[in-house]
Amino acid sequence: MSVSPLVDRWIVLKFGGTSVSRRHRWNTIGELAKKRADETGGRVLVVVSALSGVTNELTAIADGAADSRERVAALVARHNEFLAELELGIDVLAERLAALQALLDDPRAARRPLDWQAEVLGQGELLSSTIGAAYLRSTGLDFGWMDARDWLHALPPAPNQTEWSQRLSVNCQWQGEAGFRQRFSAQPTRMLISQGFIARHGDGGTAILGRGGSDTSAAYFGALLGASRVEIWTDVPGMFSANPRDVPDARLLTRLDYYEAQEIATTGAKVLHPRSIKPCRDAGVPMAILDTERSHLPGTSIDGSAEPVPGVKAISRRNGIVLVSMEGIGMWQQVGFLADVFDLFRRHGLSVDLIGSAETNVTVSLDPSENLVSTDVLAALSADLSEICKVKVIVPCAAITLVGRGMRSLLHKLSDVWATFGKERVHMISQSSNDLNLTFVIDEADADGLLPILHDELIESGAMPVYEEQVFGPRWREINGAVRPRPVPWWQAPAKRRRLLELAAQGTPAYVYDLPTVRERARQLQAIGAIDRRFYAIKANPHPAILRALAAEGFGLECVSLGEVEHVFAALPDFDPARVLFTPSFAPIGEYEAVLARGANVTVDNVELLHHWPEVFRGRALWLRIDLGHGDGHHKKVNTGGKDAKFGLSAQRVDEFVAAARALDIRITGVHAHLGSGIENSSHWKQMVDEMAGFARRIGSVEILDIGGGLPVPYSDDDEPFDLEAWAVGLAEIKAVHPAFRLAIEPGRFMVAEAGVLLARATQVVEKDGVRRVGLDAGMNALLRPALYDAWHDIANLSRLDDARDVDFSVVGPICESSDVFAQRVKLPSTTAPADVMLIADAGAYGYSMASRYNHRALPREDVIDDA
Ligand code: ADP
Ligand code: ASP
Ligand code: MG
Repeated sequence: MSVSPLVDRWIVLKFGGTSVSRRHRWNTIGELAKKRADETGGRVLVVVSALSGVTNELTAIADGAADSRERVAALVARHNEFLAELELGIDVLAERLAALQALLDDPRAARRPLDWQAEVLGQGELLSSTIGAAYLRSTGLDFGWMDARDWLHALPPAPNQTEWSQRLSVNCQWQGEAGFRQRFSAQPTRMLISQGFIARHGDGGTAILGRGGSDTSAAYFGALLGASRVEIWTDVPGMFSANPRDVPDARLLTRLDYYEAQEIATTGAKVLHPRSIKPCRDAGVPMAILDTERSHLPGTSIDGSAEPVPGVKAISRRNGIVLVSMEGIGMWQQVGFLADVFDLFRRHGLSVDLIGSAETNVTVSLDPSENLVSTDVLAALSADLSEICKVKVIVPCAAITLVGRGMRSLLHKLSDVWATFGKERVHMISQSSNDLNLTFVIDEADADGLLPILHDELIESGAMPVYEEQVFGPRWREINGAVRPRPVPWWQAPAKRRRLLELAAQGTPAYVYDLPTVRERARQLQAIGAIDRRFYAIKANPHPAILRALAAEGFGLECVSLGEVEHVFAALPDFDPARVLFTPSFAPIGEYEAVLARGANVTVDNVELLHHWPEVFRGRALWLRIDLGHGDGHHKKVNTGGKDAKFGLSAQRVDEFVAAARALDIRITGVHAHLGSGIENSSHWKQMVDEMAGFARRIGSVEILDIGGGLPVPYSDDDEPFDLEAWAVGLAEIKAVHPAFRLAIEPGRFMVAEAGVLLARATQVVEKDGVRRVGLDAGMNALLRPALYDAWHDIANLSRLDDARDVDFSVVGPICESSDVFAQRVKLPSTTAPADVMLIADAGAYGYSMASRYNHRALPREDVIDDA
């Protein structure tokens, strides 16, 4: 290529293991390198890792694995196969592969000194970069190859640095290298490829930058060259608010400053090597993290000019943490005790990460990525420490860290996070003095499955401000194409929308229910073969038209009060009482008598009823509601299991209940349990049915297991629609395990939530201190869920449905309560004005049925649309 070799403006692109293991990715590398060179008119340095998995193999060989020869043979075969895939001759790697094999016959191989280990480890990058250079040249690109060791030099040993870290976890010289750029730019090609991970040791041998250290190689080159940018190309499109492999809802972090990125990397986000940020930060080189497979995505930009946004940006996890707990009985107050303790860590070459202290105890953590924490080292340390205190080593632990600016001012939003950790054994809590992180150390096994829960809690509480669009991008699930989109809501269809505007003209606030949507939900559940009986929990919405529609679809009706039972028969005078299920809680005894007299099924949930009013129940068939002792659900107020819940017979008292029932000649024909609402976890259902079946077998006469309701409804765009098909498959499996029982369900919300909307008129539009508010003529009296459960309902401006939803509004009601807020930060058209018809979506469940006349406001009207 005819570009002047004097151009010395560089951009550094680093490609990780997965990015260099396939031919089509090398094509991308070539295209990207050329594109960057053309865009900037400058030069490109490509830094590569070893093919994926290769460094692990080399590590095993360096550690002296018994089958090292087989492993080397497999590595040779793999690289030769890759040459074939790239249509390159076998001679490209002949010399390098011979060098790899020769390392096993090296006289040092028997003792495995660190310099030999470093040479072994470095082979992966030498191989991959050699292949890459040959392939890129074969595609006609102007690429030169360079040995990184000629350019990156390990720093001389620091005081207290162990031999291990001086060889296998080195830092490199990157400041004060006068003339570096000039010498480097004298290379004859416009584009260059070199290795990550390796550098030159002071003795002329090879040094290693530590696992994942190729990112840092790229950063060193970036800083030394004063590059315009360092791009880290990997297998995810940026740094996320959590490891996307663990947390599918993790958000892309589009923009970070160096300090937050540093903290996220240090506390466990493997996507960026923690040592890579400082060189770029000090040299003022911006960084980006990008995805080789999805090169069109913008990724994460890290630089010094990002506006600081307070709030939690990420949650990360580090495994393999070692805790050393030291009880200093009697010695604690002594001058110099801590100095003695830490001196021992120094002597064993261990750098301490977190520190927690109490009057008689100091606990510290050791991070395996910064230390060689072998069992030998720990044993020697413990032996020395036990001379001055009582030592306990706790392994393996996981450190879970929340990272973000202003952690201390967020504490009030972290109550759910604390509660979640409260269920685990927390060994240590540590808050960084730079106010950027808060870390919890627990047993590794306890950490499994915790991150998605914590991540949700951080968003729900507002501690993680995902609405800050300059920082938070899309969820991994969306990028990955794993989102089942919510269907377009019925009210957006033009005909329905016109009808709704006509109804609003007759007076607001008004609830409107779309019966075709109710029927559609009914039919979805009818299609699930594993379910034998379906009851609709009418408390969700007892509108007569809905009861009639569901009765016509074959649903039974579940009532919780005599009033509801009477309402059912008023709406449906000929309804078969056997299709009514009465499941009251602490109802007056007269209600049981009246409902039994009507011939409905009755569920009881305590034995005191039988003791106190034996004659009411003698000789009856009853269902029994059992509290399985644990709850679940979308909010603690709808969590209906466990000691603190008022519902259900304690599992400890089932035998007592059965004895009392026998004495009264009562047949227990059904067992019911309901743990909460909005439950998405399928293992939860299985565990529940297993437990119920266990009780049912003990009782003997049970025919039906009623697993309650609780099917979740996707209220926000972040919620995925409940996967009914997966649920049906799961129930069929459960049923196959317990064929003796029929299954019943009693959903409420699921049947009607999405079918209903609340129409209201905008009263006033007001701006105050930068917050725009639109007031409605409906308030928490009309729809209580947001105030009661922090529930989210989408809100639309029906009068301006086609206008862009371009600004954030807070939507409030006219009630004199500070909780009279439907939503903070909902996007609405900036044109929103008084008298517009506003629609609150998914309000069909627990809307009108919970409405009140508080503040002397009228109850909303109710209307039904039925054009099926
Ligand atoms: P490379 O081989 O390209 O250097 P790594 O495996 O070192 O790639 O880093 C990429 C991986 O980092 C991702 O596949 C992801 O599983 C993991 N990771 C952990 N935490 C995060 C995070 N917060 N954001 C993005 N990726 C993360
Ligand atoms: N080969 C190195 C490793 O697996 C790659 C890198 O440093 O990114 O640790
Ligand atoms: Mg990496």
